[in-house]
Amino acid sequence: MPLNSLLLRGTACALPVLLMLGGIAPAQTRASDPGQTNAGQPPAMPAPLQDPPTAEAPAIRIEGPASQGSLNLGRVPKGWQVTVDGVPARVDDAGRFVFGIGRDAATADLVARAPHGATLERRVTVAARDWAIERIDGLPPPKVTPDPELQDRLRHERELILNARAASDDGIIGFEIATKGFRLPVEGRISGVFGSQRVLNGTPRSPHRGLDLAAPEGTPVLAPAGGRVVLVMPDLWYTGGTIMIDHGQGVTSIFAHLSETLIAPGQLVKAGDAIGRVGMTGRATGPHLHWGVFWKEVAVDPAPLVPALQGRIDPMKPRPEPKPQPSAAARPQTDQG
Ligand SMILES: [Zn+2]
Repeated sequence: MPLNSLLLRGTACALPVLLMLGGIAPAQTRASDPGQTNAGQPPAMPAPLQDPPTAEAPAIRIEGPASQGSLNLGRVPKGWQVTVDGVPARVDDAGRFVFGIGRDAATADLVARAPHGATLERRVTVAARDWAIERIDGLPPPKVTPDPELQDRLRHERELILNARAASDDGIIGFEIATKGFRLPVEGRISGVFGSQRVLNGTPRSPHRGLDLAAPEGTPVLAPAGGRVVLVMPDLWYTGGTIMIDHGQGVTSIFAHLSETLIAPGQLVKAGDAIGRVGMTGRATGPHLHWGVFWKEVAVDPAPLVPALQGRIDPMKPRPEPKPQPSAAARPQTDQG
């Protein structure tokens, strides 16, 4: 299933305001979406893709709507290079590339360079989303604010994850995500959505950069798409038992709070392979899988990329704020990262 239709299915209730720019932009000029002072106005329908670019009229094309937290497929003429907000995308022989849009982005600036030096620029207006607020109280204070002596460990663990993402390669797997989407890594209740603002013991923290799926401890976690295993760690401070998979084209998955890991770094996996087991290691309030998807260092929302989730949740709609949980036993099965 193409990414385009996945995104359209995932966002049908809040069609975004991405305007296609006629598909044509002259070299050395900036093409900017007009009239995007749309706060409070109903979103516009996305325009269809324009005709393929020609040698005389090349273009940067984006398939599907661009919204906060979306993963998008783009195309440029063959042989061109692309950056998105200054970050190089990987462009394949056909001119296709994948890029992610951050949770708080209002625009994405794409710059394409031809082999002979011509440049195209395009500013994509990003459809805004509303984010839920999740309050989690009664956490042990050391798990909310780590002790200062933990700083070296936390810095080291952050570098491990950043380095694993930086190692993402051109893609043995290619555009699997963009063309087929993900399967669900765990069948379970959605206990945390992407982008929500976490308030831990009353203190606002970083937004949630993944999808939480609550399931009994020991439930197998399946690779949601193929790729190469780039990190396996038994017990990181925040994420506990942690696995990262490189799906290619800069797209990686991270799986956290695992009770057990079943694969080794460097291993190639296919969609559906068992990679670990659900747990509550690291900073977690109950057994669940935290699944994060990134393009480079940009966290994107996994939910619109999973065909099986369409109809179960509308990722464009904020979740209602949960009621305060009175006891540890009734805490949400979620995490705080
Ligand atoms: Zn989570």
